[in-house]
Parts: sequence; C-alpha cells; structure tokens
Amino acid sequence: MVDLTKLQKEVMQNKIDKGFPINDMAFEFCRAHEELSEAFSKHNKGQPGVAEELADVAIFLLGMCEQLGFDLEKELVRKIEINKNRQYIKSKSPEGKDVFIRVKTDIDP
Ligand SMILES: [Mg+2]
Repeated sequence: MVDLTKLQKEVMQNKIDKGFPINDMAFEFCRAHEELSEAFSKHNKGQPGVAEELADVAIFLLGMCEQLGFDLEKELVRKIEINKNRQYIKSKSPEGKDVFIRVKTDIDP
C-alpha cells in the first residue's frame, strides 16, 4: 500500500529542493488544472502519456494537501465512503441524456 502521507512530504521536499515556489496556492491550483488539461488533450488526441499527466495531477494534489495541512489519504478514504453511500435519482435531460441527481440527506447535505 502506498503511504500518501509520506508521498506528500516527498513531493513538498522536492519542491523545496528545486527552489519552486511553495506559498502561491493560486499557482498550484492553476498548475494542477494545467496538468489535467494536458492529460485530457493527450487522451482526446489518442496520444501516449496520459497516465504520466494524471500522475502529475496527483503530484500537485499531494503537494497542495501538504501545503494546506490536509491528509489526502484520510480525505480520500472519507470521501470515497461518502460517495459509496450517496443515492441518486436517474432522470433525463431535455436532450434525452441520462442525468443523475443526488439525493440530499441530513448527513450528506
Ligand atoms: Mg505534465
């Protein structure tokens, strides 16, 4: 099993070692978005390297969580459990496509 907490610290240390900025969260959000866009572009064009771009996204998420003091592993486990228990009503859009509407509950508003 991968230790995401350890990886968060490794990603942050690498940023520090390389002299990258570590206090500009807007930059981090933009770079993570950029990497996701690169992954989509390669996927959309049938080009190789999609997995590496998605790994770049994960690396940015790990670094951002370390910078913000979040435990990504803990948050992932918590959110995956929430998603498992979510209920949806299946409906149709005006164009006839399937639309899933989340049922809000007291514990998941
Ligand atoms: Mg990349």
